[in-house]
Amino acid sequence: MQIYWCKVCGKCHPNSGWEDEEEIAEREKCRTEHKNISVLKPVVDDSCVSEQPVAEPVRTAYFYAVDQDGKKWVVKKWRTDVNEPLAYKIFEGRIATWTEKISVQEEAIRQQLKDLQIKEFHENFLIGFLKNQIPFVKYDTEMVVEGDNPLEIEILLNQRMVSCLIAQFDLLEGGQAFREFISKENVPGGVLPFRDKRNFRIV
Ligand SMILES: [Zn+2]
Repeated sequence: MQIYWCKVCGKCHPNSGWEDEEEIAEREKCRTEHKNISVLKPVVDDSCVSEQPVAEPVRTAYFYAVDQDGKKWVVKKWRTDVNEPLAYKIFEGRIATWTEKISVQEEAIRQQLKDLQIKEFHENFLIGFLKNQIPFVKYDTEMVVEGDNPLEIEILLNQRMVSCLIAQFDLLEGGQAFREFISKENVPGGVLPFRDKRNFRIV
């Protein structure tokens, strides 16, 4: 998807392949009459922040796009009615996000461990251990995995946490299964990563 931004009249014309004739005519008019078009491309496809959920048809979202000179802009995308086409506004700025809540995927972890028949003692230790790590998690940015929703980030367990857990259970019965569980699930989309729910502000 690209956005044609007319520097003369300020209009933004998306080029997503879904435009109707009227929109295409408007875009062509800017191109032929105003002759000063900047072409912007989103920095990451489908990556945008919004106060409303993705499924909400009338929502306002923000994302970054770069122009042909590599300059980064904030794009505001919204519509006021389901039947209206999307409107765009482009401006200089930054999308600041911050952590609102970090949580452990407790339910999912318990379910997985039950399926693997890993002992309840291991389970309770693991959950307790992860919860105790929460205060330290947000400072450890090396292990952050950003998915396609910048407001819902996964944070993998770092090497220190993994070593600590493995050392704890290595000599116990079921240690091998537990070790496999850790390496299999401490991945994006796994049950071990912390969930970092974020908020945002345009600055
Ligand atoms: Zn124009």
